[in-house]
Amino acid sequence: MSEPSPDNLAGLREHVRAWSEELGPITPRLERDPSSVADYLGSAAFRAQARMAVPPEYRLPPQGPDEDLVPGHTTAVHRVVMAEEMAAVDPAILLAAPGASMAGGIVEVMADDEQRQRFFRRVQEYPTWTFFALTEPAHGSDAMGVESTLAPAGGGDFELSGAKRYVGNAARARLGVVIARTRPGPLGIAAALVDTGDPGFTATPLPTLGMRGNQVCAVEMDRVRVRAEDVLGRHLPASRRGIWSALRFLDGFRPGVAAMAVGIARAAHTYLTQHREELPVDSTERVRAMGRRVDAARLMALDAARAYDADREDAGHRASAAKYRACRLAEEATAEALVLLGPGARIDHPALDRYARDARAVEFMEGTRNVHRLNVFQGVVRGRLSAA
Ligand SMILES: Cc1cc2nc3c(=O)[nH]c(=O)nc-3n(C[C@H](O)[C@H](O)[C@H](O)COP(=O)(O)OP(=O)(O)OC[C@H]3O[C@@H](n4cnc5c(N)ncnc54)[C@H](O)[C@@H]3O)c2cc1C
Repeated sequence: MSEPSPDNLAGLREHVRAWSEELGPITPRLERDPSSVADYLGSAAFRAQARMAVPPEYRLPPQGPDEDLVPGHTTAVHRVVMAEEMAAVDPAILLAAPGASMAGGIVEVMADDEQRQRFFRRVQEYPTWTFFALTEPAHGSDAMGVESTLAPAGGGDFELSGAKRYVGNAARARLGVVIARTRPGPLGIAAALVDTGDPGFTATPLPTLGMRGNQVCAVEMDRVRVRAEDVLGRHLPASRRGIWSALRFLDGFRPGVAAMAVGIARAAHTYLTQHREELPVDSTERVRAMGRRVDAARLMALDAARAYDADREDAGHRASAAKYRACRLAEEATAEALVLLGPGARIDHPALDRYARDARAVEFMEGTRNVHRLNVFQGVVRGRLSAA
């Protein structure tokens, strides 16, 4: 895949920054009531995001002038730029948006042409939210432990049963992708397209403190019918059908999650620079150092995205390194900002309080720091990453 040119990236950054700032005033409402996103769906930010998540060959003609901001294929580098800019205002602008999102990512990697046509046609019936369900009540970091079952139900069809947790947007989604088990062992994990209107599917929003715009849900599936043609990867060899593809596609989204953490840290840093007069006199160098760490974490997220776009074998390890570094920074920067602003900062500075809560949540999205540390270690041991 060709590298987006620096000019394109600068233009994209500028555009997304402008949209995000325009949506800034709605973010306290989104945080109180994630369903209020429905009142803002006409905004360019939401419409263009939905369009960018559809591969160009499946896109319908644009409805408005700014919708084709990225006319070609949206790369991991594009996602990094967008995620940072949106998260610097509020990650909810990204996470509450309708569109193909992560489900679209796995459909791109695993679906055949007929499945892609169907999925992306439905996603373009704006607004259509989607979800991607991997995590279970007893299995988060150990994705291989998936217990939900996709069992034969006659006529080539299947029945999906089990429970999923912390699934973003599931309660407002019309369709999504669920990871489930067809048989024991690593090759027995499959991905299926699921229609949330089908009998046996329920999604209930969970009470959360951070990333509230994402409206994470508990999902219960009680013998949900899955047609044979809705099981992804029919055309792929068995080794590429299940968890391998799921993990591979996550490598492409993870730099974007790292960029979200960069955006949160940047927001905390910017907040401090705007409230200089309230900071201790000896804090100048600490604030500057925070700014330098934000710049370094951004470079790591971009580097990981480039590795993924170039299909390099170190992409997953670099994505882990970027996410590890950025999430640590987001938590440390927001905590430091609260300390610098003194006792009562969480009450007196509600925006900063939200950044700190969102920083804790982004730590869990697409794998925690401990898991990524293990993956970086594997990269070093296998000679794919330098230990320097
Ligand atoms: C805002 C948000 C949105 C999310 N969206 C989705 C979504 O759309 N779809 C979805 O499927 N999931 C989603 N998740 C779930 C997320 O992927 C999981 O929370 C994450 O994978 C961790 O799993 P867990 O919560 O079960 O924690 P656990 O796996 O139980 O981990 C708990 C703690 O144990 C540590 N730990 C676990 N294993 C090891 C190990 N081997 N070595 C060292 N330490 C270890 C972890 O680092 C962590 O600190 C979302 C989560 C959040 C917070």
